[in-house]
Amino acid sequence: MIQLKSAREIELMAEGGRILAAAVRHVRQAVRPGISTLDLDLEAEEFIRSHAGATPAFKGLYGFTGSICASINQEIVHGIPSRKRVLVEGDIISIDVGVAYRGYFTDSATTVPVGTVDDETARLLEVTERSLVAGIAMAVPGNHLGDIGAAVQQVVEGAGFSVVRDLVGHGIGVEFHEEPQVPNYGKPKRGLKLVPGLTIAIEPMVNVGGPMTRTLADKWTIVTVDGSRSAHFEHTVAISESGNGVLTAA
Ligand code: MG
Ligand code: MG
Repeated sequence: MIQLKSAREIELMAEGGRILAAAVRHVRQAVRPGISTLDLDLEAEEFIRSHAGATPAFKGLYGFTGSICASINQEIVHGIPSRKRVLVEGDIISIDVGVAYRGYFTDSATTVPVGTVDDETARLLEVTERSLVAGIAMAVPGNHLGDIGAAVQQVVEGAGFSVVRDLVGHGIGVEFHEEPQVPNYGKPKRGLKLVPGLTIAIEPMVNVGGPMTRTLADKWTIVTVDGSRSAHFEHTVAISESGNGVLTAA
């Protein structure tokens, strides 16, 4: 069931989203060679909890132990924060964070270069973020879910990269994962029609190589089958009468 949100509910999500945006910025600034993904996790948790009423949404969600997902290089999503995972110059790290605030969830992700990265990796980050922007631009009343996916796919494949299909965006708000699913591929004018009050997380996951994924033995971390690098950018977006609002924008 799709749960449309009232203006009041979207305002509460926007308040949580502002805390989340600040948390993502805070963690992004902490990224450097030598820091562990557990250190980043603790930075995020402390920052989120310093805001009254806000808690890290991932902690305990489906049994996950972290406040962030921290996914390095060929890891696509759901990397578990660990003291043993230490960032090295030239890595990329995808940081996915959720906030629960006054009964409502928001969700955002970014991929950060660790120091200086090679040209192809820099292009991967630029293209993936640009594909998110293209998808958000299509998230307006009267368009369909397929318009979002098609826009993301066109940017990604036009740059010679591939869109992950095994994982998708999602409705969000009262529950962390709500209907509908929001694929990062599709055909224009297909799928659910977008209406004001719909709140969705749009989150392209983009691989340098092929789109295939597999899950590691830790049962969480999802990696590219071919070992190529992967990037992930995400915002929580509310469809409005006049277009949309990005609730997790910095
Ligand atoms: Mg997320
Ligand atoms: Mg999400």
